[in-house]
Amino acid sequence: MDFRLTAEQESLKREFEEFFAREESRAPEGWSGGLFAIFESDENWAYHRSVAERLAEKGWLSLPWPKEYGGKEHSYIEQLIFNEVKAYHRVPGVDMWGPQIVAPSILEHGSEELKKKWLPRIARGEINWCQGWSEPNAGSDLASLTTKAVEDGDDFVINGQKIWTTGAHRADHIFFLARTDQNAPKHRGITYFVSEIDKPGITIRPLLYMHKKREYNEVFFDNFRVPKKNVVGQVNQGWYVTMAGINFERSMIGTVAELKRGLEELVEFCKKTVHHGRPLGEATLVRQKLAQMAIELEATKQWAYYVSWLQSKGQNVPAESSAAKWFSSELTVRFANIAIEIMGLYGTLKEGSKWARLQGRYEDLCQASLGITIAGGTTETMKNIIAWMGLKLPR
Ligand SMILES: Cc1cc2nc3c(=O)[nH]c(=O)nc-3n(C[C@H](O)[C@H](O)[C@H](O)COP(=O)(O)OP(=O)(O)OC[C@H]3O[C@@H](n4cnc5c(N)ncnc54)[C@H](O)[C@@H]3O)c2cc1C
Repeated sequence: MDFRLTAEQESLKREFEEFFAREESRAPEGWSGGLFAIFESDENWAYHRSVAERLAEKGWLSLPWPKEYGGKEHSYIEQLIFNEVKAYHRVPGVDMWGPQIVAPSILEHGSEELKKKWLPRIARGEINWCQGWSEPNAGSDLASLTTKAVEDGDDFVINGQKIWTTGAHRADHIFFLARTDQNAPKHRGITYFVSEIDKPGITIRPLLYMHKKREYNEVFFDNFRVPKKNVVGQVNQGWYVTMAGINFERSMIGTVAELKRGLEELVEFCKKTVHHGRPLGEATLVRQKLAQMAIELEATKQWAYYVSWLQSKGQNVPAESSAAKWFSSELTVRFANIAIEIMGLYGTLKEGSKWARLQGRYEDLCQASLGITIAGGTTETMKNIIAWMGLKLPR
């Protein structure tokens, strides 16, 4: 693998860097980046929406899509560069689900009618999605979900409960899985739906973090109606739409880039903060911890590029992307802990406290980082995939 970017990729990267540096400078006061910040206040949400509009004007919400649907047919590497630069600048604007999951699923499995209705709205950044997959008894074993969809005229009628639905309280659309055949083997009776959220029959309740911030929700369907034309793929084939169409940011470059920015700021903090008469950065233990993080981050970055490079060659990379997810999420936990250790009690304070440092970012990250090792597949699940699909060990 050649790690150098082509001249075109270098030039695109510069374009991204200029754009995101400018957008970062427009951030509302106290903006700290990440999901908490996006959902936290109306002002922050408005910032997220306004960046989305600018990204849409540039056609950057649909970089890899086919030209016929408004895309630019960019490769995985170019998408990776975009995600890396965006995450480094902590700029919002890309809905977590629409461009990266819903659009690829519709592109691969959706009817022409679905493509014409939904893709332009996603590319224009007009709509925000949430993902209704997990249920109280269906997480790692997602196929055991029990939310029911029953045919009634031109609609399906949905009843059941979802959990951990990130951003449902800000979203205007939901994509979800429901069981349409009670008697089929569990993977074969599931259907994939897309829908507006602001309709009768849906209730959204918050699930708060210990420090009361809100990212997650429970979603209850009570005779919620979805038109049949909103099925993505075939009825009862939703499992395969889900598995084949997912285009998660699999290299995890966003996590790497955010941590890289965090490390740079932490190094600055250690240079400037004097403890017992000398800068923190001169203490051997502090230096060792920062160096260890720098090494692990560099290794994770190289791995991210490797995963994208394999994908750009058309390879399916379940084990490699699982390794990226596992290592980068666990690294985030280590990073948050080390940042708090180095910053001492200042690091444990919330944004807004006059003694808080680095905008209280690491108090937030300590709360959120454990969840990152669970969301989108737990560490144990990632290890199973590596064992089964990468190392070919028996199940
Ligand atoms: C921060 C966060 C955000 C999320 N956002 C969303 C969202 O927006 N939409 C959505 O639909 N879901 C979301 N989820 C849900 C997430 O996908 C599930 O939490 C995850 O799949 C794990 O499922 P579970 O919580 O039911 O745990 P379980 O599956 O019950 O697992 C419990 C424990 O058992 C382990 N385990 C389970 N099966 C095995 C096995 N076969 N081998 C070894 N160990 C095993 C797990 O690794 C875990 O440690 C989110 C979760 C979190 C924490």
